[in-house]
Amino acid sequence: MTDCLFCKIVNGDIPADIVYQDDDVLAFRDISPQAPTHMLLIPKRHISTPNDLTEADVVTLGKLHLKASELAKEAGHGEQGYRTVMNCNSDGGQTVFHIHMHLLGGRALSWPPG
Ligand code: AMP
Ligand code: ZN
Repeated sequence: MTDCLFCKIVNGDIPADIVYQDDDVLAFRDISPQAPTHMLLIPKRHISTPNDLTEADVVTLGKLHLKASELAKEAGHGEQGYRTVMNCNSDGGQTVFHIHMHLLGGRALSWPPG
């Protein structure tokens, strides 16, 4: 999608601190980190919200989770723990409409979220 911030990062039109990519998945550091480790993992293919996921996205979603756990462990958060979260629409707090998994680690995170 031409007017999507994260598609522009995928295409290299906007710079990002990229930590991993393969054919399907891109991971980069959040520009406004909410924890010592705060990365975003996205499918390279544009999907607007979690509501738009289909059966065809199941493998890619699994890759996001697997890669998030690998990056969390690489960052040293495996033992202490970390959080992955995907926000949906206004009540979920979604502000960028290209689905993304937040990976947060490096501090104790409260629950329930605000
Ligand atoms: P959400 O509120 O779940 O849609 O999360 C969007 C996230 O994207 C926020 O944590 C922002 O800080 C982050 N973000 C926005 N623009 C950029 C950017 N250019 N590079 C990296 N992260 C960004
Ligand atoms: Zn997009």
